[in-house]
Amino acid sequence: MPAHASTRHTSPKRIATNTDEHSQSTFPHIFEPLDLGFTTLKNRIVMGSMHTGLEDRFYNYGKLAAYFEKRAKGGVSMMITGGISPNREGWLLPFGGTMSNPLDVHNHKKVTDAAHKHGAKMVMQILHSGRYGYHPFVVSASPIKSPISPFKPRQMSIKNIEQTVEDYARCASLAKDAGYDGVEIMGSEGYLLNQFLSRHVNQRNDEYGGDIHGRMKFPLEVVRAVREATGKDFIIIYRLSLIDLVPDGNVMDEVITVAKALEEAGVTIINTGIGWHEARVPTIVTSVPRSTFASDTAVVTQPMGSPVMAANRINMPDTAEQLLAEGEADLIQMARPFLADPEWVNKAQAGEVNRINTCIACNQACLDHTFEHKRSTCLVNPQACYETELVYKPTKSPKKVAVVGGGVAGMSASVVLAKRGHDVTLFEAKDVLGGQFNYAKVIPGKEEFFETIRYFRNELDYQGVTIKLNTKVDDEVLKSGLFDHVVIATGVVPRDLAGKLDGADAPNVMSYAELLSGAKEAGDTVAVIGAGGIGFDVSEYLTARHSEPLHEIGDKVNDPSYRPEPQPIDEWMAEWGVNENPDYQTDGGLERPESITPKRQVYLMQRSKGRLGKGLNKTSGWVHRAHIKSHGVYQMPGVSYEQITPEGIWVTTPNGHSQLLRVDSVVVCAGQVSVNDLMPKSSDKDDSKPVQKNGMTYHLIGGAKLAGELDAKRANREGAEVGAKI
Ligand code: NAP
Ligand code: SF4
Repeated sequence: MPAHASTRHTSPKRIATNTDEHSQSTFPHIFEPLDLGFTTLKNRIVMGSMHTGLEDRFYNYGKLAAYFEKRAKGGVSMMITGGISPNREGWLLPFGGTMSNPLDVHNHKKVTDAAHKHGAKMVMQILHSGRYGYHPFVVSASPIKSPISPFKPRQMSIKNIEQTVEDYARCASLAKDAGYDGVEIMGSEGYLLNQFLSRHVNQRNDEYGGDIHGRMKFPLEVVRAVREATGKDFIIIYRLSLIDLVPDGNVMDEVITVAKALEEAGVTIINTGIGWHEARVPTIVTSVPRSTFASDTAVVTQPMGSPVMAANRINMPDTAEQLLAEGEADLIQMARPFLADPEWVNKAQAGEVNRINTCIACNQACLDHTFEHKRSTCLVNPQACYETELVYKPTKSPKKVAVVGGGVAGMSASVVLAKRGHDVTLFEAKDVLGGQFNYAKVIPGKEEFFETIRYFRNELDYQGVTIKLNTKVDDEVLKSGLFDHVVIATGVVPRDLAGKLDGADAPNVMSYAELLSGAKEAGDTVAVIGAGGIGFDVSEYLTARHSEPLHEIGDKVNDPSYRPEPQPIDEWMAEWGVNENPDYQTDGGLERPESITPKRQVYLMQRSKGRLGKGLNKTSGWVHRAHIKSHGVYQMPGVSYEQITPEGIWVTTPNGHSQLLRVDSVVVCAGQVSVNDLMPKSSDKDDSKPVQKNGMTYHLIGGAKLAGELDAKRANREGAEVGAKI
């Protein structure tokens, strides 16, 4: 075993507990400043680079500055911009943000000024996408097309490499002119410099290829040139891939060799990246257990003199504090958690952890938007990247508002209304808040969803909302409450197939809500009707090793601090084929995935032809598809349902054959229908317009307004929008 070897989750205590005033806080290591020699970071929390879509257009820099200013005000010590390209070849998208000309400096000054106003350091990320670029000018170490871009790259000539080194240096020097405190050189996630570092793409025979010393020549030249162009008192962060998770990726010995060479070349901080974008191992989605890859960071942290930053699936202060306290890293980088809550650091410092709006790693409004070429925002925080557009101004004329329905839409509306100064009563017919989220949160791998309900529960109290659980609202309740406004957020119920499909009301049939709440139990063989997001979730629930229905969670469901245990990290790694040894010496840290014995035999069906799960989200859908495949779920597209009997379900297969699937249970996941009986009928076709009744103004939001394609992102946004308007 090499000298730097360690085992997962054991590492030296690198940071001694200090004795100054910071140690008095709940998170002494988080709030310990870090002296970089020429400048000091006020705490250990860094907001990592995140492409928002605002950085690509000069006219959006005012919005981008407002976005960063809010996070700087929220207490973060240093922020890193989304990727800015050093030249045209490096664009991620056509006409993506570039810093190659003194004219580019002006806009960036808005960003650096905004950060500096609140004492945060501002760093610009230089990203050359190499073969990940989505345009015809893409280049790489070797002419090997990536699976995530349709464009085949041109192999860079030596002249081209030398020019690119100069472009990096010019880009960094312009960043300095724009007031940035440093630059981050993006060298992980499979972008250009990572492509040179790894045999997965670099198959050159010249001095820039061959063994790790040849493969790291280009990245080292970039670092030296950037240092020379920017002087010694300038932060240079290098984001290094710790575990490539692709075939022919580097082994840990090579990663450490590169890290040490980067330090020598002039890097101030080593940031860490996990997995290439094309890797078939999930690294940031919600089912990846928190801080899964921290042990790999620890192996690199040990031999380094420079600070090392941990990243990936760190979203709450206790995880960050533990990693720092155990010396696994010197800094913690989080990106998405700052979309979710710009005040994360201030809340941690004030001991208000229960008020943190936790990033649930769903990707639905951030990364999925990036891939759809839309501006990023956040499912749990619709204000993210809309700071100047979705504004919660204090009201000048406070009103009495009833919000009916305690799902995500209703909770979101209530929080915003109360924050603005309205007198809000939130009615919920059940004994628990959360609506459909209560079903989502029991799906194995979706434990983070508990955090959103915990956040809302605390925030409703904090903002002074009156909560009435177990209260079924009718016209009389509303009239007697003398409300000025009523927000109808009564949500959805699962679509019932009784009366539409013979046998759908039999005892062996249940809705997904009945299954996940524990009202009914499924047998050992199950047919699932409907392969949308919920059909997939239910199939995972039925086949995963660990799953608990709501009723087994019992009263804890009302405990805002409760969160079930996620899947153990070693079990997760074995399932996905990740080498469990943080000092791995297998290519890219991969190994053969363990074969899984599913808990039940499940048949997942849909009427539409074609691949199941086509409509799932871009950045997480593939993980769900891989999960049901590895758990032996039998996928049946293009079927028609004939009849459910005690023996199972009769279906007609796409080739016209009638077939009995012998199953113990049938779970219906056939979408939802709106519940909106309380909403007065409008003469207007536009149901987004408020309606008057009994002297009150009614507003309809969320699933109650439209059940089709309902998701929590729309529900939360509609709640916030109505909350901002009244
Ligand atoms: P959905 O995505 O609309 O899927 C409903 C499924 O039911 C479809 O597969 C549909 O397929 C089938 N169906 C519809 N009407 C039917 C009928 N009358 N009889 C039989 N089958 C019928 O709805 P969902 O799965 O309930 O999800 C609701 C929302 O939550 C969606 O917006 C979804 O994106 C979101 N969600 C997302 C995730 C995620 O992981 N991102 C997870 C859960 C839910 P056929 O018509 O082809 O049979
Ligand atoms: Fe996190 Fe989801 Fe918000 Fe993205 S959209 S920042 S993953 S909660």
